[in-house]
Amino acid sequence: MTDLKPYEKYLWSTKREDYEKKQVPEDIDCVFCALVEVDERVTKLTVFEDDFLTVQMNIYPYSTGHLMVIPKRHVNSLTDLTDEERNRLFKMVSKVEQLQRTVVEPEGVDIGMNLGEAAGESILHMHVHLVPMSYGGRGFMETALDTKVMKKTLEDMCEDYREQTEILEDYWG
Ligand SMILES: [Zn+2]
Repeated sequence: MTDLKPYEKYLWSTKREDYEKKQVPEDIDCVFCALVEVDERVTKLTVFEDDFLTVQMNIYPYSTGHLMVIPKRHVNSLTDLTDEERNRLFKMVSKVEQLQRTVVEPEGVDIGMNLGEAAGESILHMHVHLVPMSYGGRGFMETALDTKVMKKTLEDMCEDYREQTEILEDYWG
């Protein structure tokens, strides 16, 4: 392969310069709407999508394999969804949990949503985070150097998920 040292092969930081430099242009009101509309200035790493929702890699992952389930419609409250949409969203969340348990084999999955800036939401368009968690997830790099250790690149992780997307297909009848 290459002469990379082992740590260079397996570690990368979310503070990596190319991601840090990528600023969202000011004329983009909502990053997720732009992503849905395939605005090429927005990074899009799609695991699955249909007319209602999209399943995306989080490009600033909390852990390896961090995914988001995002309704395509610009809403920011569970009450803005119809009963069917809400059921459909959470049916997909449960399928994505299954996908992560298959592909990443975590010891747990942290699932959550932040609705509104005061709740820690940075993009004000509803999205459900699914973060694979494991014991011992915080090692020297995380605690001493305030960085995150990713076992795979976003692109490789996305590819691993895409190989298993039959888990997500037909999630809604
Ligand atoms: Zn939006």
